[in-house]
Amino acid sequence: MCGIVGYIGHREAFPIIIEGLKRLEYRGYDSAGIALYDGKDLKVCKAKGKVADLEARVDSEITKNGTIGIGHTRWATHGVPNDVNAHPHSSNSGDLVIIHNGIIENYVSLKKELSKRGYIFKSDTDTEVLINLIEDIKLKENLKLGKAVQVALNQVVGAYAIAVFDKKKPDEIVIAKLGSPLAVGVGDNEFFIASDASPFIEYTKNAIYLEDEEMAIVRINKPIKIRKIKDDSLVDPYIQELQMNLEQIEKGGYDHFMLKEIYEQPDAIRDTYRGRLLVKEGIIRMAGIDDNIEKFINADRIIIVACGTSWHAGLVAEYIFEDIARIPVEVEYASEFRYRNPVITKKDVVIAISQSGETADTLAAIKLAKANGAFVFGVCNVVGSTIARETHAGAYTHAGPEIGVASTKAFTTQITLLTLIALKLAKVKGEISNSDYRYHLQELELIPEKVAKALKSEDHIKMIAEKYKNAKNFLYLGRGYNFPVALEGALKLKEISYIHAEGYPAAEMKHGPIALIDENMPVVVIATKKGHYEKVVSNIEEIKARQGKIIGIVTEGDENVKSLADYVIEVPESLESLSPLLTTIPLQLLSYHIAVMLNRNVDQPRNLAKSVTVE
Ligand code: GLU
Repeated sequence: MCGIVGYIGHREAFPIIIEGLKRLEYRGYDSAGIALYDGKDLKVCKAKGKVADLEARVDSEITKNGTIGIGHTRWATHGVPNDVNAHPHSSNSGDLVIIHNGIIENYVSLKKELSKRGYIFKSDTDTEVLINLIEDIKLKENLKLGKAVQVALNQVVGAYAIAVFDKKKPDEIVIAKLGSPLAVGVGDNEFFIASDASPFIEYTKNAIYLEDEEMAIVRINKPIKIRKIKDDSLVDPYIQELQMNLEQIEKGGYDHFMLKEIYEQPDAIRDTYRGRLLVKEGIIRMAGIDDNIEKFINADRIIIVACGTSWHAGLVAEYIFEDIARIPVEVEYASEFRYRNPVITKKDVVIAISQSGETADTLAAIKLAKANGAFVFGVCNVVGSTIARETHAGAYTHAGPEIGVASTKAFTTQITLLTLIALKLAKVKGEISNSDYRYHLQELELIPEKVAKALKSEDHIKMIAEKYKNAKNFLYLGRGYNFPVALEGALKLKEISYIHAEGYPAAEMKHGPIALIDENMPVVVIATKKGHYEKVVSNIEEIKARQGKIIGIVTEGDENVKSLADYVIEVPESLESLSPLLTTIPLQLLSYHIAVMLNRNVDQPRNLAKSVTVE
């Protein structure tokens, strides 16, 4: 996730690009850069930090004139955020320059090949490999830039929105898209390129959104030409008139970042397993695990430390690690763990989970675990964050920036990542049969599609939200893998609607919370087919006998719970171990809509901060 901006035309490119990058900063920023062609030469300037830092540096380092240029605000996936890893990246000759949003999965093998052919790499990024691949092909086969980009992209596995230009032919920019967004603003003899339309909204309302596997060349004074990357066929440009204002564009047309992020989950989950889950080959590839596999399989136990929603993801992981990989797991609140003199040994593996990678309590827990000789593995979303640096090894979730304070896609991508680790360890330890393993991999690959299907219930969920928005309390129940989901559902509601809610293991209800149930108490019960279904149905009967209002989260086609519950929300069928990735979705939407109906500040709920960097 990052923002890209480009301009070619008759205006000064610099102000358009810098202002555009600022508007795209919501997409994440850890560094930024710009490349301008000033009529004679190519000027590149990059800086760690915000776009404002780049702006300050440009002032002292390069001249700002030029009518063709590209800029980037980075959200690192490969290589820590620093000046060198910031985009644009230049090819070895210095002629070609690129900005890229996405991940090149096969960059390691491409880099090896290019290194053999004498290419030198300054950065740790996958993007620098791509620009040199383009240059290599261009020179070797004596091709025009557009053709070289096309040939290169046919060798690339991954996701990208790119813009490339050649300082020797500074009258065109080549762009292409697969998986990451790319919009083109069509002006009067000028083109704007950006991750969304926000950078060019005041210049033109005419936009073309490239489709996946399409590329285009934008030239001064010429109409845009769009082609399919694979078969080279020409595509008629579809120009649409923009109706949205700036704020709506930044939120991708959604009313809130939280809703946008809820809807990003299919893609975010795919980005988490991209390049790691190789279903056909039956392989899970994760460098952080592969390089330390002995530590994991010889561990006496795994201790998971986390806070808030990440702690809930840790609880889901406990079920899957124990169930499938047969490794004992303890899940700890980092804030408790750090102060309670826990027994930690050299044979423990500690997994620390944090979206931001900056959570103060989790960091303190990591320090304590390290001091006691444990091997510490980090799971975070933000590349180069403190936790990523302080741990012995780790893996990123690659969910893209999460802006809504209430965590949504960070949660499901953490579960996805931890599931990959559990499956990998189960396989290496011989705890899972080959067929079961393969089945899990296939089912995991299908999760994004199923999440997309679960999202289709939004209107129905909105109607349920309307019904219960004035309730003073909510109870959330689940069992097994879905007990942590009940906790997470309750937390989401508390965070953004300020309604009191409790999550409980369904069977524990009779040991206390059942006393709360009356006709005013909505109870959300997760009752999917594969997880202790009959037992949960009995719990539903108990609630019904006390006039509680039941909202069942059920497997598609379940008539039984439907006949008992006041409302049901269906989710697609899946393996029990993967069901949290689906049952979470309606709970996110339910709390979102209740909060909106109550006029709450959904993206910035009172008293909460996105990353808790104090203890
Ligand atoms: N994979 C690229 C990098 O790490 C691009 C990341 C992005 O989309 O910002 O530099």
